[in-house]
Amino acid sequence: MNRIFNFSAGPATLPQAVLEQARDELLDWQGRGLSVMEDSHRGRAFVELAERSERDLRDLLSIPDDYAVLFMQGGATLQFTTAPMTLARPGQGVDYLITGHWGKKAAAEAAKLRPVRVVADGEALGYRSVPSEEEWDTGADAAYLHYTANETLHGLEIDPPPDADYAPLVCDMSSTLLSRPIPVERFGLIYACAQKNIGPAGVTVVIIRPDLIERVPQGTPLALNYRKIAAAGSMLNTPATFPWYVASLVFRWVAAQGGVAGLAERNRRKAQLLYDHIDSSDFYANPVDPRWRSWMNVPFTLADPALDARFLKTAEEQGLYGLKGHRAVGGMRASIYNAMPEDGVQALVSFMGEFERAA
Ligand code: PMP
Repeated sequence: MNRIFNFSAGPATLPQAVLEQARDELLDWQGRGLSVMEDSHRGRAFVELAERSERDLRDLLSIPDDYAVLFMQGGATLQFTTAPMTLARPGQGVDYLITGHWGKKAAAEAAKLRPVRVVADGEALGYRSVPSEEEWDTGADAAYLHYTANETLHGLEIDPPPDADYAPLVCDMSSTLLSRPIPVERFGLIYACAQKNIGPAGVTVVIIRPDLIERVPQGTPLALNYRKIAAAGSMLNTPATFPWYVASLVFRWVAAQGGVAGLAERNRRKAQLLYDHIDSSDFYANPVDPRWRSWMNVPFTLADPALDARFLKTAEEQGLYGLKGHRAVGGMRASIYNAMPEDGVQALVSFMGEFERAA
């Protein structure tokens, strides 16, 4: 079997060791004669998995003890609704920093429920840079300030978090969580869909500070209710057991890679290799201000877009898959999440060099 290098933005490549373990125990999980996806989420084996995975994630990210860690469903998109609906009072403003496609979506969803103040929008900068914090239009009464740590389409990443502390920080970390250390204590709420660095789509990680949990109004629908989900250990209803199980294996894999700090070092090297190659060539270009360049998603264009189709076809023939940029921005994009080995980035860079010479 020949595994390709999968540069898709999500669902994304998973560590091969994790896939092999999942395969090996698929029919007979823990010697129980059944698969984890057939087992009861209320049974001792699954409850132990759930508790262990939460402990592992807490260790990996140094999550303060008083924060709750939830495994929810509905993807990051449901969090676009859950945060404004349950963390702001009716009529209370919510602040959004927009640095790309996903932040814009999050703000549009919030605007269906609460008055949204756009603190700043990087659209005028082509989402190639982040508007300077001195120019932000913030609201003293805002329930929170939301931003997107890594804009997956544009390849623009904010790290460390902004200095702003006039309202709790709420952050969409879908395409950055577990890729580098983060100061969790700076945040009120962090959420991330799984299908980039955590596991298969279907489980959504939520990390929330106790005072924000306290804001959740009585009568909030159960599936959106951080307080009840926390109290029930994320078992208010049937969780996405298989994605959660795979995520639990990924957490162990991350620990074995030297933890988040070890992966950050590798991710920095991978991104550097690719950006250096792009910057050293007139044939390829990445438009993002180097200060804000993402370690996870590297968009690039070819000098002659007429060559795009051939680039993609030839790349696929060589086992380099998923390089087409998002339809909203065009061009190419290499997503190089945790599970993309350095060999994969090396193979991409070699291919890019050969393609340029042959063009
Ligand atoms: N936020 C970001 C930064 C994303 O990259 C994505 C998915 N690509 C989403 C939100 C939406 O996630 P989901 O499809 O799980 O709702």
